[in-house]
Amino acid sequence: MNIESAKALITGGGSGMGREFVLNLAQAGATVSFCDVADEGIAATIAAAKDLPGKVHGFKCDVSNEEEVTKLISDAWAAMGGMTVVVNNAGIFRDGLLVKEDKESGTVKKMSLKAWNQVIAVDLTGPFLITREFAAKVIETKQKGGVIINISSISRHGNPGQSNYSAAKAGLIADTKLWGSELARYGIRVGAIAPGFIDTPILQGMRPEVLEGMLKGVPLRRAGKPHEIFLALKFIVECDYFTGKCVDVDGGLTL
Ligand code: NAP
Repeated sequence: MNIESAKALITGGGSGMGREFVLNLAQAGATVSFCDVADEGIAATIAAAKDLPGKVHGFKCDVSNEEEVTKLISDAWAAMGGMTVVVNNAGIFRDGLLVKEDKESGTVKKMSLKAWNQVIAVDLTGPFLITREFAAKVIETKQKGGVIINISSISRHGNPGQSNYSAAKAGLIADTKLWGSELARYGIRVGAIAPGFIDTPILQGMRPEVLEGMLKGVPLRRAGKPHEIFLALKFIVECDYFTGKCVDVDGGLTL
């Protein structure tokens, strides 16, 4: 599929990598819809895309809410006159150890069920709902296929302090494989990208000494740029023989 002719939906397009995807796609001439939960992020992305060749539509939607997702797919589909690419990018993290003993008091702090449920809801249930509604619409409208891209993470291998996030991102890779298999008969390809440390507001909010320590473990000795993740997205969209697999873009880092 040519990127210029794509009609793409990006979740979490009001910040970080999602915004980069929206702007790069619109720069290439694609028609783009995106959603986010915060009005400010939506307005900022719309403003940044103002003079780009491709038309950009912003929607407010919480990807973990079934009703809102159903409406989003329907509204974005109508706005763009179809939808050929979907990027499951929206994600959050609520880090903490599963259990941690306080040496002095002997009390045990636990990862809360709330922190577990919040991350699973946005990072795993969200992509499930978006993908299900998109695939159903492709079939109902007899559209000739499409491409789904799941933004996973190198944390999918199991990163200490991220029981919830690692489980969600690993689940996304399992679903990339099985959706790739289940949806091939409808002409829908499914790929995933696993970024390493990427320079977005998540990293920019870290203490410099913590960030420096993290980046020492990266063979290329730096954080990735959002544009470098877009290059993987472009590859998955354009390579019609790619499905069911994950592209790691991580500077050589292994967790
Ligand atoms: P980001 O700057 O925080 O962007 C994520 C966007 O998703 C934010 O605008 C956020 O809104 C939005 N969002 C949160 N919950 C949502 C919901 N329920 N429905 C719709 N939108 C929602 O993060 P990023 O660094 O660009 O990360 C993008 C994706 O890459 C995530 O899936 C993340 O897990 C993954 N990733 C990032 C890195 C990295 O190093 N940055 C590495 C590996 C994987 P709010 O800001 O209002 O919460």
